[in-house]
Amino acid sequence: MAGTSRTASRTANTWRNWAGNVTARPVREVMPASAEELAEAVREAAADGLKVKPAGTGHSFTAAAVTDGVLIRPDLLTGIRQIDRAAGTVTVEAGTPLKRLNVALAREGLSLTNMGDIMEQTVAGATSTGTHGTGRDSAATAAQILAMELVLADGSLLTCSDKGTAEERAVFAAARVGIGALGVVTAITFAVEPLFLLTAREEPMSFDRVTAGFDALHAENEHFEFYWFPHTGNCNTKRNNRSAGPAAPPGRVSAWVEDELLSNGVFQVACSVGRAFPAAVPAIAKVSSRALSARTYTDIPYKVFTSPRRVRFMEMEYAVPREAAVTALREVKALIERSPLRVSFPVEVRTAPADDITLSTASGRDTAYIAVHLYRGTPYQAYFTAVERIMIAHGGRPHWGKVHTRDAEYLAGVYPRFAEFTALRDRLDPQRLFANDYLRRVLGE
Ligand SMILES: Cc1cc2nc3c(=O)[nH]c(=O)nc-3n(C[C@H](O)[C@H](O)[C@H](O)COP(=O)(O)OP(=O)(O)OC[C@H]3O[C@@H](n4cnc5c(N)ncnc54)[C@H](O)[C@@H]3O)c2cc1C
Repeated sequence: MAGTSRTASRTANTWRNWAGNVTARPVREVMPASAEELAEAVREAAADGLKVKPAGTGHSFTAAAVTDGVLIRPDLLTGIRQIDRAAGTVTVEAGTPLKRLNVALAREGLSLTNMGDIMEQTVAGATSTGTHGTGRDSAATAAQILAMELVLADGSLLTCSDKGTAEERAVFAAARVGIGALGVVTAITFAVEPLFLLTAREEPMSFDRVTAGFDALHAENEHFEFYWFPHTGNCNTKRNNRSAGPAAPPGRVSAWVEDELLSNGVFQVACSVGRAFPAAVPAIAKVSSRALSARTYTDIPYKVFTSPRRVRFMEMEYAVPREAAVTALREVKALIERSPLRVSFPVEVRTAPADDITLSTASGRDTAYIAVHLYRGTPYQAYFTAVERIMIAHGGRPHWGKVHTRDAEYLAGVYPRFAEFTALRDRLDPQRLFANDYLRRVLGE
């Protein structure tokens, strides 16, 4: 083996994802501390005839980060490279966890515009699969990228943005949601803005009221989302809008009761009981869907958008055209009501405006996301398969990091620019250094 680099390298242990449904046994793992070390590790792997795959924090439910070759760990490729206040940008190392970025930005009086539900993931891992929150005007985390730096399969370092050569612009269009197929991202430049306040309004609402008013709720709020509790007609809605302040964080007791006790502690117990006694799930759902109460609070963005998720689950999420969301959700409700399925986890509905990223789930179309979850250890195939059938009928695009069964043939039909992505992959990685079984399925050989 060519293993002469200074990059921390060791025989790998078994790698596991957060949900515990995916494992990998790479030949070796490396922990580069710079773009140069990472490029060297890529060249060495190629020389040894091994595949290469970078992992983030393993928060994907799909085998996107799995390799039997060289696993690149993100742990030492972290930190803020540069903050440019005048330009409104921050450049971060690819392995930086979102929580570290959020805290560092807040200390500087800055923030990302929009984000997902949690902030454990690395910046490169999150953006590579199209991680998103909910937004009327602001899109996924990857859509906030202004420039990125990647190590390509030939070991060279490329910086790209929507300026530059035609090839650099083509890479930028695709690599923001690159599913690890085009190169290893080493740094990302995000657009940031002065820190702002968001007022969150959480309010229980009936399923009929939310679905009837979905278009208006979406149009009237900067960030609207809701959860429907299967086996009930109950939803919990969340409206986040910018506020002139003052900050009014949830009281400690309220935050603990809602975020820790109900959303994690009691929910964990309820899920365990439901898994052991599926017949009890509808009764538990009726109680737990009523336990959450209306509340309003005002805080900085990451404290409003994200919350801790300690209850482990499996998840599938589909992006459908926004106008199909209510029909698709009603079909999911009818499916659960007429089947023996017992579903202990709420169904989450979010939105995103169309973006211009080649394989973003919101590429070129205004989107609604419908996500289904089940407590870890509960058989999920029957539920996910039945829901997937509904989503496919609506031209659904699966989240790249969440459970799904779609292949390249299907995906080529729902992404108008699919061939543009695979042609770029052919140019950048003709030997398929970055291939794995997952990419073979979703992109083809
Ligand atoms: C509890 C929980 C909550 C979640 N909430 C949301 C949410 O609100 N919204 C949402 O959209 N998703 C959500 N997800 C999904 C999650 O954001 C994505 O799966 C994300 O990709 C995970 O990031 P990661 O850092 O763990 O990357 P990993 O899962 O480890 O890797 C994901 C992909 O990125 C690639 N990758 C990693 N690093 C690099 C790099 N440096 N260069 C190139 N490719 C790279 C990997 O090879 C792999 O293909 C959630 C997941 C969990 C478990």
